[in-house]
Amino acid sequence: MALRSIYRAVIMGPPGSGKGTVSAHITKRFGLKQLSSGDLLRANIKAKTELGLLVKYRIEQEGQLAPDDVISQLILHELRSMERTDWLLDGFPRTVSQAEALDNVYSVDTVIHLDVPLQTIKERLTSRWTHLPSGRVYNVEFNPPRVAGLDDDTDEALVQRADDTPETVTQRLKVYETQTEPVLAYYRGKGVLATFSGTETNKIWPHIQAFLDKEIALV
Ligand code: ATP
Ligand code: MG
Repeated sequence: MALRSIYRAVIMGPPGSGKGTVSAHITKRFGLKQLSSGDLLRANIKAKTELGLLVKYRIEQEGQLAPDDVISQLILHELRSMERTDWLLDGFPRTVSQAEALDNVYSVDTVIHLDVPLQTIKERLTSRWTHLPSGRVYNVEFNPPRVAGLDDDTDEALVQRADDTPETVTQRLKVYETQTEPVLAYYRGKGVLATFSGTETNKIWPHIQAFLDKEIALV
């Protein structure tokens, strides 16, 4: 049997569309390594690195993006140590300029697009609790942790993200529409976009799984 080539995927969708949750399922089933730009930025903010200090206000209060050059360098740097690894990018690229920067170095096999209605998303984000170190998310209504306020795997505290306030959420959704939706068109044009629509992650996941079962068998 020929050696299988490296599989490179991106997951996209509006804030709160379930990217983190679906990424965790994909990691578990297919062994791709997930790299989340949001988790990476939040770790930098928490550790008060130079980069973290630079982007903190913009991310947490304004709901704006980190500068393209900063984030592209950060992600491409991480990817350099993952040359022989199948990967899944969550949260990057988020602008056409970032997609082009990625394209200059790697070609993406598949872009999974989670198409979730905006109404659903607003309700979700404001009732969401996050385990910051891992990015695992819970929802007080439809996906509560086993023990209130604690992460299932580590028993560490859950928090509400500083940018999950109603004002910042509204801004993040606008940014998604104006800056990130063009990236969907960019990948559609390359023939790698796979869109999955729905309101519940648990119902969308089996379709993504069936899709990837076929895709990954082909590479
Ligand atoms: P969710 O975590 O619910 O999917 P999201 O997609 O808005 O929502 P993250 O991907 O965690 O959240 O990103 C949080 C914030 O970090 C963004 O609002 C943005 O300010 C910044 N950020 C993350 N990725 C990028 C990126 N590729 N380019 C610029 N800024 C980014
Ligand atoms: Mg996320």
